[in-house]
Amino acid sequence: MQTIAISNAICVWLCCGANRFENKKLGKFKGPAQLIERNQGKNRNRIDCGFFFFIFAEKYAMTKKERFQKVIDYFSKHQPVAETELVYREPFELIVAVILSAQCTDKRVNIITPEFFKSFPTVETLAAASVEHIFELIKSCSYPNNKAKHLQGMARTLLAEFNGVVPSGIDDLQKLPGVGRKTANVIAAVVFNKPAMAVDTHVFRVSARIGLTTNSRTPLDTEKQLVKHIPEKLIPLAHHWLILHGRYVCQARKPKCKECGLTEFCRYFASMNKDVGK
Ligand code: SF4
Repeated sequence: MQTIAISNAICVWLCCGANRFENKKLGKFKGPAQLIERNQGKNRNRIDCGFFFFIFAEKYAMTKKERFQKVIDYFSKHQPVAETELVYREPFELIVAVILSAQCTDKRVNIITPEFFKSFPTVETLAAASVEHIFELIKSCSYPNNKAKHLQGMARTLLAEFNGVVPSGIDDLQKLPGVGRKTANVIAAVVFNKPAMAVDTHVFRVSARIGLTTNSRTPLDTEKQLVKHIPEKLIPLAHHWLILHGRYVCQARKPKCKECGLTEFCRYFASMNKDVGK
């Protein structure tokens, strides 16, 4: 904010200085159009500098570090507790739920899993199940064919390579069928409280809109930019802040900016409202 104040002060000084000069020399100044019309001679450089600083101030007013701090402060105050909305009792159940949640809502997954875990309460029972049986229990979620195969494969790999115990390492987790980097990060963060940032569609979109990431083209790029600026101990929490904010406030098609507490330091909001008041 200090940067904003200084930049804006320079901008105002430069433009007003030019304005005063014009008024004295050419009579009462009537508005910006007239200012531009009169923008000739020695004074031109000063006016140009004012506009340049205005653009500079808008674009670079808030440093990345300041923006991150504002967002962390906001969520720490208003959402000190943020957790996954998937219902689970143990790491094995969370892996199943996260695999099911790909391209599907947590709400739908929470409808499916109670019956699912009645039929397959352990890694062993799931490993022994047929793909057809698994499919029957998960067919109301998206991509049930693939997910049924992944769930069976995940349980079999857990038994064969990890003694049926969910590993904590990102690389080990990614050896399980159906577990990509995002799912591995969710398990590492939620179950083992590791500083792993899972980037789903909400985290990707919200981070870009607020301005926490710049020109990110992939989830991995977003992950790297986020973990660089968020203190390690807050990363698991920040993951849920961004997901929940994307799910309920900063929605994909129509962000609810009027209900959002981040407007003051949101890059998207600033860009959408820069013409207001002109
Ligand atoms: S101000 Fe709008 S765009 Fe920015 S984070 Fe909030 S809802 Fe999203």
